[in-house]
This record gives sequence, structure tokens and C-alpha cells, in this order.
Amino acid sequence: MSFNSPQPATADIGVYGMGVMGSNLARNLARNGYRTAVGNRSVERTADFMGKHGEEAVFVPSHNMAEFISSLEPPRVGIIMVQAGAATDAVMESMAEHMEAGDIIVDCGNSLFSDTVRREAWCSARGLHFVGAGVSGGEEGALWGPSIMPGGTPESYDRLGPMFEAISAKVDGEPCCTHVGTDGAGHFVKMVHNGIEYADMQVIAEAYDLLKQRLGLSAGEIAEIFAAWNETELGSYLIEITAEVLRQVDAETGTPLVDLIVDRASQKGTGKWTVQNALDLAVPVTAIAEATMARGASSATEQRQAARTFAGHTANDEITNKEAFIEDVRQALYASKIVAYSQGFDQITEAAKTYGWDINRANVARIWRGGCIIRAVFLGDITEAYERNSELPLLMADENFAAKIDAAVPAWRRVVADAVLHGVPTPVFSSSLVYFDMLRAKRLPAALIQGQRDFFGAHTYQRTDKEGTFHTFWAEPGRPEEEA
Ligand code: NAP
Repeated sequence: MSFNSPQPATADIGVYGMGVMGSNLARNLARNGYRTAVGNRSVERTADFMGKHGEEAVFVPSHNMAEFISSLEPPRVGIIMVQAGAATDAVMESMAEHMEAGDIIVDCGNSLFSDTVRREAWCSARGLHFVGAGVSGGEEGALWGPSIMPGGTPESYDRLGPMFEAISAKVDGEPCCTHVGTDGAGHFVKMVHNGIEYADMQVIAEAYDLLKQRLGLSAGEIAEIFAAWNETELGSYLIEITAEVLRQVDAETGTPLVDLIVDRASQKGTGKWTVQNALDLAVPVTAIAEATMARGASSATEQRQAARTFAGHTANDEITNKEAFIEDVRQALYASKIVAYSQGFDQITEAAKTYGWDINRANVARIWRGGCIIRAVFLGDITEAYERNSELPLLMADENFAAKIDAAVPAWRRVVADAVLHGVPTPVFSSSLVYFDMLRAKRLPAALIQGQRDFFGAHTYQRTDKEGTFHTFWAEPGRPEEEA
């Protein structure tokens, strides 16, 4: 190999897994003055890393796990940055074998929070700390400052916190890193972050589609609209990059690149995890679910092909006041986005109760203001909402958001109605408006469902006019009235 074996115990922290994320995280740590041990299953990758970046700062390379661990100063901190699942288990077990009581294993990969709960218990039984830390921001974030969401014990955060806060993104001088809660809380919050990211991307895509289909605007023209929206309360990384994506022209054909990209959205699974967990907790995260399903629908190639023959019977009138329509779409986007975030925070709230985590929601919003994919001006408003009222039962009912939603509702309804009439699919715009109407309804038809359930299954119901649980011997169709 092209590097020397490490001197014992010279590194402050180590990163195992020299893939895209691991190598950038190691460079970020080292640039911030931490002597960083680096290791990888295939040692060629470590050699390659040292060849490219070995001179940048103090790195301590290793050929195998035993060397990697022995190069760390106790209490040792070993970060795992490999694929979630079996790879993470394999690396954790190998790390634990060489560690001593009090050492800390940190999983910075995109692990499922329930795996993190299991791993924490496994390590704890061996006297080790295990910290599942969500890291968002992609490869650039890992290198220059991600948003970091660590779980685990408060003691492990005492050791890790200063290092993680130093390498995280900063907004108004504040680090985008906080101790989220115990065991799997960090990975849970990262999972919901990704779920919200799905919804945020989908509402942006729906706004683009409406501007394209209803106004016939080109990708370049829509790019300028998104660039202008980025200066409003919608200002965010995702809106900013949307303008960039729409501006891109294919050098070969001179066509906007977006018009050449196959319209099938892929997914790696964190949206699915968020929805699966929301179903377990019975939290309606309709925006995240619709966004996840929309990716599935886009990829349903055979079904889409088979459905092309439908006439659709859409209205065909044109928009006359284009400027007013663009502003309506902007407001519908903003209102739908508030719903998506409100639902995501509901999921975090319910999970904290169910799994026994003490999660400060203002701090979660605060560490999402920078470094991560959903970073936005908007997250400052969410932080303030939870600072105003830490017990807030519904984010969208916060005085600031409630006023904004109320102001946006007429535009939101016009846009959804127009989309439905003209056959432009807007699953998250539409379902978020439906969810909003369900929450504000004085009475829902759920009463009838309770009646149906009691009819066929004696599932009982409660009444509005008296306390207790009731069951009725309902009249069945055709049965004489006196038998009922
Ligand atoms: P990557 O570039 O594909 O690298 C994968 C790494 O995992 C390599 O170092 C590989 O080692 C190692 N590995 C795979 N299977 C292994 C096993 N069974 N035992 C030991 N090592 C194994 O991956 P990445 O993009 O850096 O992602 C790493 C983690 O970060 C993942 O959990 C990912 O979900 C998460 N993440 C990624 C992003 C992103 O934008 N890419 C953002 C946030 C979080 P070898 O070289 O030996 O194959």
C-alpha cells in the first residue's frame, strides 16, 4: 500500500467508509482541525483517498479495522459511513470487537431508525455507546457543512457535540446540529426530513407542470419565475436549484434538458419508510404519501401506456390573466408546503410520545435551516412558531402560518379547481387542500363510518350527546321494522 501504518492513538476521530460521503466527512473533520483516522473495507479506496487528499490536513490511514481502532485516542469515536442495512451491521460488529467500554460508534449513514434502536441496545449491552446520526446535504454538505441530527445518549453527545457542531453548516452563527433525542431519534428525524423533501420536490414539480401546461411557458421562462419566487417567503435551496435545472440547455440538441429527461422519478426508500411509519403511528402525512405515490405512478410505465387511450374530457379554455395565475400557483405552492411540513412535525411529535423521545421541535427546525436539502427561509418561521409555543398542537395553526394559509386559500382553491378541470395532475396541491378542509370541518362523515362498522362488526361508537360506548342492533335491509 502507498501509505504507512498509523502510529498508535494519534487520531481524535475516525471515519470508516471512504465512499462519497465518508471521504468528504473525513475531509471536513480534518479541515476543522481534528486529526482524522480513515479506513475502508477495500484498502485501495483508503490509498486512493490518501493519494488525493492526504496532504490537505492530518489524516491517519489504516489497512484494517484493528489498525483503524488502535489509531484513535480513547474514549474512541468511530464513524461508520457505509450503506445502510447489512453493511452497517458488519462494520459495527467489527468495530465493537476492537473497542473498549465507553467508546462510541457513530452511524452517519441513512439507517432505518428501528435498526438504530436495535444497534444501540446491542452496543449498550457491551458497554459501548452507539449514536445514530442523520446527515443531510449530499456530498457537498458532507464536505462543507451538513445538517447533522445525532441521537444516542446525552453523554455521547457531550463528547461528539463540539466536533459535529464545528463541521456542521451554520446559520446566523448557529450550528445546524443538536442532540435530537435518545437512541433512534436522530435517524427518525432524518427520515422525516427526507419524507418532507419528497413532498417539497413534488409541490415544486406540480407548480412547474401547471405553468407549463396551463400557460404554455418554456422551461427557461419558468426558470425565471422560480428565480423570482426564490426572493419571496418560498426562498429555499430546492426552489433555487429548480431554477438552475430548468435553465439547463442540452448542448447537443439546444433543447431544455428537462424536456429530454425521462419522466420517471426514482426513489431510494426513505419516503417509503416515512409513510410506513406514519401508518404505524396513524399520523396522516398525506403530502408525503402522495409525493411518494406520485413517484410510483410516474414509474408505472405499462399502466401509463395502457391509460393513454382515455379521452379525459378536460376543459379547454385558456387562462386570460397570466400574471394572476402565476401568483395563484405560488400561493398554492406555499400553502401545500405548509401542510407538508405541518404533517411531518405531527409525525415527529407522535413518534416522540410513542418511542419515549424528548424532541425539541424548535431545535429540529433550527438545524434544518442550513446544510440540508430542505433548507429554507421558511424553517426560520417554523423555529419561531415552536419557540412561541413549544406545545403547539398543529404547526399550520401557528398565528403566522394560519394568517398566511388563510390569505392563500382562495388562490389555492382556484388552482386546484383549474387543475382538476383541465386534467393537470396535482396530487399534493389537491390532497393538502383536502386535508386542510378535513381539519377545519365542524363535522366529518366519519360518523357514518362508525355506524357502518358497528352495523357489520359490532365495533361500537361514541355519541355526541352522552358519555359511554354504544352498540346498536341496526335494521338490516329487508328486515321487518319490529325485528330491528
Ligand atoms: P458509496 O459512495 O456508495 O460508498 C459505499 C461505502 O460503503 C464504501 O466505502 C464501501 O466499501 C462500503 N461498504 C459497502 N458494503 C460494505 C460492507 N458489507 N462492509 C463494509 N463496507 C461496505 O456510498 P455513500 O454515497 O458515501 O453513502 C454512504 C452512506 O451515506 C449511506 O448510508 C447513504 O445512504 C448515506 N448518505 C448518502 C448521501 C448522498 O448524498 N450520497 C446523503 C446522506 C446520507 P468498499 O469500497 O469496500 O466497497
